Amino acid sequence: MAMRAAVLGAFGSAPSVEDVELMTPGPHDVVVRPGAVEVCVTDSYALRPGPLAHPPAILGHSAAGVVEEVGAAVTTVVPGDRVVVAGTPECGECFWCDRGEPHQCREIFEGAVRHVARRADGTPISAAGGVGTYAERLLLREYGVVRVPTSLADEHLCLLSCGATSAMGAVFGIARVGLGDTVAVFGAGRIGGWIVQCARLAGAVRIVAVEPMAERRERAAGLGATHVLDPADGDVVERIRDLTGG
Ligand SMILES: [Zn+2]
Ligand SMILES: [Zn+2]
Repeated sequence: MAMRAAVLGAFGSAPSVEDVELMTPGPHDVVVRPGAVEVCVTDSYALRPGPLAHPPAILGHSAAGVVEEVGAAVTTVVPGDRVVVAGTPECGECFWCDRGEPHQCREIFEGAVRHVARRADGTPISAAGGVGTYAERLLLREYGVVRVPTSLADEHLCLLSCGATSAMGAVFGIARVGLGDTVAVFGAGRIGGWIVQCARLAGAVRIVAVEPMAERRERAAGLGATHVLDPADGDVVERIRDLTGG
């Protein structure tokens, strides 16, 4: 299928929009038409040599959209399903994926190369992070999409593809915040703002946001932080001890 995609041709060069050919899906693959794509700081890491991108590579790693085509062995989604694209690859076959810990999938850390498209001259094009969402169509594995029956707009839904889920992982998976807990959030930018909301969702009663920028402190308070601290005002640890009775 002919499509356009934002391709990083080489490290050190600017990405450009190219006419490319999407490869034919295999038995375990799905083709997704993205409705909205998130821009994330991880995408800037893919511009530098590292495990994320192997040029030529389609950039971008999170999206929400609609399934258009599925391979013969796919069982969890059908054409027409609305899906969130997982922001990192999940091979479904390695030790970590078998353990139900796809966030440790070897493909993330070993920098596996997945070719998803080709240029007119036949040059294969990979997908940054194994995902590659800055394109008119996405060739993903079945494991790389999650069916979401929802009426949410794609531009909101796509935030579940990477950023908001990072905060959910921090609150529910790592810190395991529970009912009645007190939480301190250091940094109330994009992820910190979501962490504040997730901590509230988890039932935390006291949420302290520590953030040097006034505008972000104000937003954190609006999102559910019960206390906001400017680190310039003195020892943060001491002040949190004061707020929490030690
Ligand atoms: Zn991201
Ligand atoms: Zn894996």
